[in-house]
Amino acid sequence: MNTFDQFEVWFVTGAQLLYGGDAVIAVDAHSNEMVAGLNNSGKLPVKVVYKGTANSSKEVEAVMKAANNDEKCIGVITWMHTFSPAKMWIHGLQQLKKPLLHLHTQYNKEIPWDTMDMDFMNLNQSAHGDREFGHICTRMRIRRKVVVGYWQDEETQRKIAVWMRVCAAWADAQDMLIIRFGDQMNNVAVTDGDKVEAEVRMGYHVDYCPVSELMEYHAQVKDEDVKALVDEYFRLYDTDINNDGRTAEYTVLWNAAKAELALRAILKAKGAKGFTTNFDDLGQTDGSHFDQIPGLASQRLMAEGYGFGAEGDWKSAALYRTLWVMNQGLPNGCSFLEDYTLNFDGENSAILQAHMLEVCPLIAAKKPRLEVHFLGIGVRKSQTARLVFTSKTGAGCTATVVDLGNRFRLIVNDVECIEPKPLPKLPVASALWIPQPNFEVGAGAWILAGGTHHSCFSYDLTAEYWEDYAEIAGIEMVHINKDTTISDFKKELRMNEVYYMLNKALC
Ligand code: MN
Repeated sequence: MNTFDQFEVWFVTGAQLLYGGDAVIAVDAHSNEMVAGLNNSGKLPVKVVYKGTANSSKEVEAVMKAANNDEKCIGVITWMHTFSPAKMWIHGLQQLKKPLLHLHTQYNKEIPWDTMDMDFMNLNQSAHGDREFGHICTRMRIRRKVVVGYWQDEETQRKIAVWMRVCAAWADAQDMLIIRFGDQMNNVAVTDGDKVEAEVRMGYHVDYCPVSELMEYHAQVKDEDVKALVDEYFRLYDTDINNDGRTAEYTVLWNAAKAELALRAILKAKGAKGFTTNFDDLGQTDGSHFDQIPGLASQRLMAEGYGFGAEGDWKSAALYRTLWVMNQGLPNGCSFLEDYTLNFDGENSAILQAHMLEVCPLIAAKKPRLEVHFLGIGVRKSQTARLVFTSKTGAGCTATVVDLGNRFRLIVNDVECIEPKPLPKLPVASALWIPQPNFEVGAGAWILAGGTHHSCFSYDLTAEYWEDYAEIAGIEMVHINKDTTISDFKKELRMNEVYYMLNKALC
C-alpha cells in the first residue's frame, strides 16, 4: 500500500439559497460530476471526496470541524459555483486546521453564447463567487494554495496533485517521530536548532535514544536473519565479494546487515519514521557494538522511506522523510546529500554531492555496487560496507531547513546534475551538480541564506512542492533558481527579515 491510499481530500462547494433549491440541486449535480471527473482523471494521487454544498455559516462551520476531526482528511478544496457570500465562511475558516486549496474553475468550459440567459449566468458565476471567497481568505490571512484553471485540464490537475502530495507529507509529519542515536556532532551549528519550535511549526517530534539501547536490539538479532539479509544483498547488487562466508569482506557485510536489522527493529518498535546517527557514537567496545558506521543500513533505510540525517542532523532526517512521502511513485528518486568538494570549471563549475557513505540508492543511474573499503573517520576506523554508484543526470531540486533563531527558513535550489568523471579512489555514492542559475550565484545565494551543507534532493519534485509545504507550515521559503541575482536575493532576505519580525504569528 502506498501512503496516499489511506488519505482523502474533501471537496466543498460554496453556494447559497438565494437562487432557490433547484439551483442548489444543479450545483450539487455539477459538483458530483466534477469530483468524479477529477478522481477518474488518473492524475491525482489522493481520492477526492465530495462533501456537498455549503449554503450557510452553520454548514461551513460543520464541514470544517468535521475535516479537522477526520484522520483520513488531509486537506480541503473549496470552489464557489455560484456567489457564496463570504461572511458565511468566516467561522468555518477560523476553525479549519487542515490545508486549504481554493480551486478557481467553472463547471462549463466555454460560455454558451447562443443560449446563455440570466438563470444560467446566476448559476455559473464562480468568476464572481471565487473572488468573494478569495477576499475573505486574504482578509483573514488564511494560508492556502489558489489553483486557477479548467478542472478537466491536465495543468490544473497537476497543480492539485502537487498540493495533494504535500498534504500527504504534511499529515505524515504530524505523526512523525525522529530518533537521534547519539547526539548532534559536537560544535556544529547549522544542523542544530530548536526542537520544540520544530514540533510547534512543522509537527514532527525529535527524541534522543542512547546507543546502548540500540545495542540491546543489536544483541538480539538472530544469525539466520542476518544470513537472509546478506543473501538479499547479493541478489540485489553487483559485487566482487564472495558469498562464501569465509572472507574478511564477508564478515564486514555480515556485520553491516546485523546493524541494519538492529536499526530497523528499534525504529519499528518505537514507531519512528526517521533517525540520525553520529560516527563518534557506535556503542561500547566491551559490549555489543557496531564495528563500522552503519552506512549501508542508512542507505537502504532511506530507500525504504525512513528519514535520515547524518551527524545528528534531525532537521534533515525529518525533511528527507517529508520529501520521500511526496516523491512516492515518481520515477527518478530522492536522497539526503551533502556538499563535499567544489570543481571549478568555468560554466560547468559544480559541487560534488556525496557523503562518507549515506546516499540513497533511489537516485542511482545504474544498479549500485556493493563494496567494502576502509573508512578512516569516526570513533571506529574500520572496513565499512557501502553501496557505490553515481546519480542520474538531469534537473532536480534540493532543499534544506535552517533555524534562524526567530524562525525556520526553507531554502530551495534548482540544480542540474551532470556527468561526473570516474572517482577510482573515492568508492562512495555521489552526484555532481551545478546549482542554478550558475555555480557562483547559486552557491553564493545559498550561503547568504544560511543554508546547510546537508540537503534533501529530488529529481521529481520542483520548487512548487516546497512552496506548498512552506505555505501549509507557515515558514519562510526562499527559492534560488534560473532568475536569481545576488542583489535581488539579498533584498529578499532583508525584506523577509522585516516581514517575519512584524508577523509574530509566523515566528
Ligand atoms: Mn555530514
